Amino acid sequence: MSTAFWLNLIVLILIYEDYAHSKDVDQCSCTDVCGEKNKELLGQGTWRLLHEVVNNVERSDKNEKLFQNLVLSLEHLYPCAECRAHIKEMKLSRDTIEMTPKFMCEFHNKVNKQLEKELYNCDNFTKYFLY
Ligand SMILES: Cc1cc2nc3c(=O)[nH]c(=O)nc-3n(C[C@H](O)[C@H](O)[C@H](O)COP(=O)(O)OP(=O)(O)OC[C@H]3O[C@@H](n4cnc5c(N)ncnc54)[C@H](O)[C@@H]3O)c2cc1C
Repeated sequence: MSTAFWLNLIVLILIYEDYAHSKDVDQCSCTDVCGEKNKELLGQGTWRLLHEVVNNVERSDKNEKLFQNLVLSLEHLYPCAECRAHIKEMKLSRDTIEMTPKFMCEFHNKVNKQLEKELYNCDNFTKYFLY
């Protein structure tokens, strides 16, 4: 067999491996945050990031899609197993995710409700309260 044949075979195997891993994101072995304190810090940091994005980044078609990707990735990549399970239950989809403070307020409220925390009034919601 020629060198070219073996090179092509190796390239095909590498492409397949890459494809297989990209399809496997659901089964990725994310580590879990340890202890309640870390879970709280992770949550506060993540909420801050998401609220700051909708408050400060221009809303355009491209950014809307990127924001949807960011939110949808949480159910696979958020490093807290219990939280990922809760996010999955919300059945988020591109149709329901909007790059707006109102969406973020309601999304945050869904988690607040699960955790029996205070719910915020999201009517006419324009800015994240904390920052
Ligand atoms: C996607 C996601 C899922 C999570 N799932 C879980 C879970 O299943 N179990 C778990 O224990 N923890 C979970 N967390 C963490 C949890 O939501 C909190 O971040 C954590 O409990 C710390 O809470 P906190 O009271 O400091 O306020 P946070 O909920 O962290 O909020 C920070 C600040 O945001 C403001 N705020 C609160 N609600 C709203 C709102 N609706 N709109 C605007 N501003 C608001 C308040 O000023 C609050 O102090 C999750 C976090 C995220 C990002």
